[in-house]
Amino acid sequence: MLTWKDIINFSVNGNPKPDRRVEKPEAEWKAQLTPEQFRITREKGTERPHSGALCTAYEAGQYNCVCCDTPLFDSTIKFNSGTGWPSFTQPIKENAIKYEKDSSFGMVRVEVMCNTCDAHLGHVFPDGPEPSGLRYCINSESMTLKKEKVND
Ligand SMILES: [Zn+2]
Repeated sequence: MLTWKDIINFSVNGNPKPDRRVEKPEAEWKAQLTPEQFRITREKGTERPHSGALCTAYEAGQYNCVCCDTPLFDSTIKFNSGTGWPSFTQPIKENAIKYEKDSSFGMVRVEVMCNTCDAHLGHVFPDGPEPSGLRYCINSESMTLKKEKVND
């Protein structure tokens, strides 16, 4: 389980190696994504709070990167933070996410990106629920929810 200490360590000393890399020219991302997805993932944008489709989704399933389809989070680690953005306590896999110090807007925050394609996802904060104490605050537009198949 990752803790705030691990996150700081990754952002200062380097991130874990991803399983694969996806790199595309900007024009290809633009053709593949909606304008809002492009703005957020490739230009480090932020959606308005409570506007994202996945904010209130709690169905069982897996959240994949909207750009490269790499699994990032799953529904078992999603929680309602009340912030208006989908929130998680852990990534699905330690090397799924990349961390970088972000000093924009006069704040020091830790930006989280897809470790496979560098899509901007959101930020991580040390005020999440125990035991990890982490809160990954992620834009809905950065992810697609692959719902689990229900067997009946
Ligand atoms: Zn990605």
